[in-house]
Amino acid sequence: MNPGGSFGEKVVESRPSVADYTTVPTKSESNATTKTKKSDVSFVGKRGIRSNNGVYQLLECSICTNFMYPPIHQCPNGHTLCSNCKNRVVNSCPTCRHDLGNIRCLALEKVAESLEFPCKYRNIGCLDISPYYNKLKHEQNCRFRPYNCPYAGSECSVTGDIPTLVAHLKDDHMVDMHDGCTFNHQYVKSNPHEAENPTWMLTVFNCFGRKFCLHFEAFHLGMAPVYMVFLRFMGDVNEAKRFSYCLEAGTDGRKLIWQGIPRSIRDSHRKVRDSLDGLIIQRNLALYFSGGNRRKLRLRITGRIWKRE
Ligand SMILES: [Zn+2]
Ligand SMILES: [Zn+2]
Ligand SMILES: [Zn+2]
Ligand SMILES: [Zn+2]
Repeated sequence: MNPGGSFGEKVVESRPSVADYTTVPTKSESNATTKTKKSDVSFVGKRGIRSNNGVYQLLECSICTNFMYPPIHQCPNGHTLCSNCKNRVVNSCPTCRHDLGNIRCLALEKVAESLEFPCKYRNIGCLDISPYYNKLKHEQNCRFRPYNCPYAGSECSVTGDIPTLVAHLKDDHMVDMHDGCTFNHQYVKSNPHEAENPTWMLTVFNCFGRKFCLHFEAFHLGMAPVYMVFLRFMGDVNEAKRFSYCLEAGTDGRKLIWQGIPRSIRDSHRKVRDSLDGLIIQRNLALYFSGGNRRKLRLRITGRIWKRE
């Protein structure tokens, strides 16, 4: 998973004159899924006029083939291109080599404004139809969009629906799968003092017909070495809120207890960790909980998941 990646690809453009444009992630529009869908899409204008692929193709930048959003530019000979490409090619039209100047193609911007498009995830169930300029914003938040692999500690780029990701976690990351809504895990580390690198572990729980990721991490919070345990829900943000969980670590008499709401895997692992939304145990306390001579971490975490209300 690459928590920062999707944000890094966003190209934020300044469009001072028009209010409701969305950010344009050139990368996601140019991926293979989009490409195969593009050609077979027909769309309906505001007054119900069905258009064909001709107009649709006019909105693809002839240089990068991404969809164009205002400001759409053109050269004095009428070749259109997106603002990203315009900035890249300096001042020469990639098609005719004429000086580009600074000409906006307002007519095409207006035409685009009057069109409506189906969501690109319609083949997996989304029925949304949005005005052209809202389409990207919708798709960035569409509940049918694929999830990122929730595995921590690696730059895994696999995306997919939940069943795909569960199979991927099991087969490719060798993640342990458990059935049931309670857990009783022991984390053992023989040399907890020398571990400067972040350590992480993931277990998947199958409970209420849903999948949950239990993360165990070792990292430094400022100067202090800590362990953190938290739960993520393999599904959307709104559904995650329907569940609660608790975690407990300790020995006889002394206990740390955490109760929380699982975070959706829409929130990156890193984001959840950095927001400290979970059970945090200072290393000294963890070693105390481990018993023995404090050289070895032997931390037992028990917990439970339940439905709220
Ligand atoms: Zn372009
Ligand atoms: Zn030109
Ligand atoms: Zn959608
Ligand atoms: Zn993965």
